[in-house]
Parts: sequence; structure tokens; C-alpha cells
Amino acid sequence: MDLPVITVPQADPGAAYRAQQPAIDAAIARVLQSGWYILGSEGAAFEQEFAEWLGLSRAVGCANGTDALVLALRGLGIGAGATVVTVSHTAVATVAAIEMAGATPLLLDIDPDTYTMDADELRAVLNDPPPGLPPIRAVIPVHIYGQACDMAPLLEACRAAGVAVIEDCAQAHGATLDGRMLGTLGDVAAFSLYPTKNLAALGDAGIVATGNAELADRMAAIRQYGWKRRYLSDMVGVNSRLDELQAAVLRVRLPLLAAANARRQAIAAAYDAALAGGPLAPPVRRPGAEHVFHQYVVRSREREEVMARLRSQGVATAIHYPMPVHLQEAYQGRIALGPAACAETEAASREVLSLPIHPELTDAQVETVCAALRLTAG
Ligand SMILES: *Cc1c(COP(=O)(O)O)cnc(C)c1O
Repeated sequence: MDLPVITVPQADPGAAYRAQQPAIDAAIARVLQSGWYILGSEGAAFEQEFAEWLGLSRAVGCANGTDALVLALRGLGIGAGATVVTVSHTAVATVAAIEMAGATPLLLDIDPDTYTMDADELRAVLNDPPPGLPPIRAVIPVHIYGQACDMAPLLEACRAAGVAVIEDCAQAHGATLDGRMLGTLGDVAAFSLYPTKNLAALGDAGIVATGNAELADRMAAIRQYGWKRRYLSDMVGVNSRLDELQAAVLRVRLPLLAAANARRQAIAAAYDAALAGGPLAPPVRRPGAEHVFHQYVVRSREREEVMARLRSQGVATAIHYPMPVHLQEAYQGRIALGPAACAETEAASREVLSLPIHPELTDAQVETVCAALRLTAG
């Protein structure tokens, strides 16, 4: 049997590069000619432009989104002897970062409609922490797929408990909640700039942002050996620098992000229409939240069949994520869970399916997906 030809890839970072090739090639040539490749003027300019775009005073570039979370935790002084609360329905990076900082993860369940942290369960664990864990010092809400967590009750519960909030914005560049940019709601925000994210480098990159200048100074020192002055470590640091080539590419792309997110939203609207009346429900939008569709996720008890039927029409899909973090071999049996025991997380991991939604999809590719969705519904 012939394998179907994929005409609509689930992600396509090369298409984004080709669409912007002259500007990106010029930016790269500029860096190559400059002779300065790490933490120079491009990185400093990108940090300033990113902070301005977000509406915060400071941003600190780093090597990737995992390190961005680690810098946020370590900058806040959170490590051994602290528990950090997040969800199991996330990129494993969120949980890995907590352990890299030396802290203990506690994983909560999600709201099954939006796939984001269950705020009621958070309130419950802050009021009545599970026994045997170090004190809870921070919460990492993950704005998964490009949509905000239920931030009002979450922030209220964290403030009442005196617990820091680190927003994981790796999938939510440019998303808003009640008109406010995600990443400006907590104490500090971590962004991945991995090649398939809404704002993407051509390699690994990340950035942390905050309105707290002292925290920004600490994170900037930690990312380079704990230096405030060259060769003098005031604190224990790491090496997690942003290189100039990536910063220059990101400076080309930041001004294009709003249009790219609008394109994702237009594709999402086309999928909504194609799904109307069928068995697959479009993603639930949280009232007041502007969703930037890092992923367009539907769920089905017959996921394998749906994927196979889409594939037969040339449409590739992906699963984010096929296994909750707490069930993965590296974590199983040793990570604390909240009282809900991640039941909705486990159900979601069996049923979620991500359609192609990158902004470089052509109208013809979007129509191919819509036609395949209509067929799948029938
Ligand atoms: C991508 C991602 C990360 C990690 O980013 P890297 O750049 O791959 O280290 C963290 N959290 C979430 C939710 C992500 O999607």
C-alpha cells in the first residue's frame, strides 16, 4: 500500500524562513561581519524591543525556554527546600526546569475545556499543602496552546499565600487576557523561542521578562556565571546566553508577530467553520482571552481513526502531549500530584489532537484541511 503524500505538514519552520529570507539573510550577514557573536548589541536591542513590546521594563535573553524558567526560579531564590506547583499537561520542560533549579514539583490537574491549571485545585493545595513536601514558594501557570490560564483566581490565591507566579509563556507570545498581555500578569514570565513557537529563532533561544529591575539584574548575572562584572562571580551562575545570530533573527520577526498571530486566528476560524455541526468540537475559548493558537487542538475518543483519515487526505497532525509528565518513565512514581490526581490530564492525553496551524499555510492548504475535516465529520 502506498503511504499518502503529506501536503499539509503539522509544522513548517522552513516555510517561515523562506517567506522572510531577504531580511533574515541580511540580519545574519550583519552579525557575521560584526565579529561579535555572543551578548552584544543585537541581543541588547532584542531584549529592549521585546520588553517594550510586552510592556515590561526588562527582558533577559537566554539559551532556551527551559533555561528561561530556571533563571526565573533561581532569580527569585527558589531552589532546594521549596515546592513549585505546575501542571502535568505541559511540555516536560516545565517540570524539568523546576528540578534543574533544585526545587520539588507538585503537579495539578487541568480544566478539561481549556487544558489549563485547575484554579480550584490550586486554591486547595495552597490552603492545605500535601504532607511531606517543602513549603510551596512558586506557581508556574502554563498558557498552553496559546490561551490564558484562569489568572484572576489563580493570582488571588497566590497573593493570599505569598507565593510567586512565573508565567510559562512558551506557547503564548502576544496572547492577552482582558486586554493585558500574558507575561505581564505574574512576577516574571518565561518564553521559549524554539523554531516552531509563535515567535521563533532559527535554533534554540529563550527570554525572561519582568517589571522588577532587581530580579532582572539577578537573572542577567545568573545566565553568565553569576557575573555582574566580567570574571567576577557575585553568585553561582550558569551559562545560558543568547547568541547574536538568533537575536538578529528575532529582531526581524518580532515586528511580524502580530500579523502571524492574526493569520493563525484566521486559520482557526476556518477550522471552526469546517467543524461546525460535526462530532469534533472546536477549541473552547476562555471569555476575555485572546487565543494565539500556537496549537489548534480538538479531542476525540477515536483519535487514531481521525488521524488516519486526515493523513489519507494529506494532512499531518500531532499530539501535544501523548503522555502526561507524571506518567513518563523519568518521573513516574516520584512526583507529587494534587488531590485530583491528574485525572482530567490523563483523559486529555488520550484524546487531544493538534491540527496544522502555522501562519505560512497557504489558503489552498487550509482548504485541504477544512475539506478533510468535513469528510471526517461525515
Ligand atoms: C517549548 C516549551 C518549553 C521549553 O522551551 P525550550 O525552548 O524547548 O527549552 C517550556 N514550556 C512549554 C509550555 C513549552 O511549550
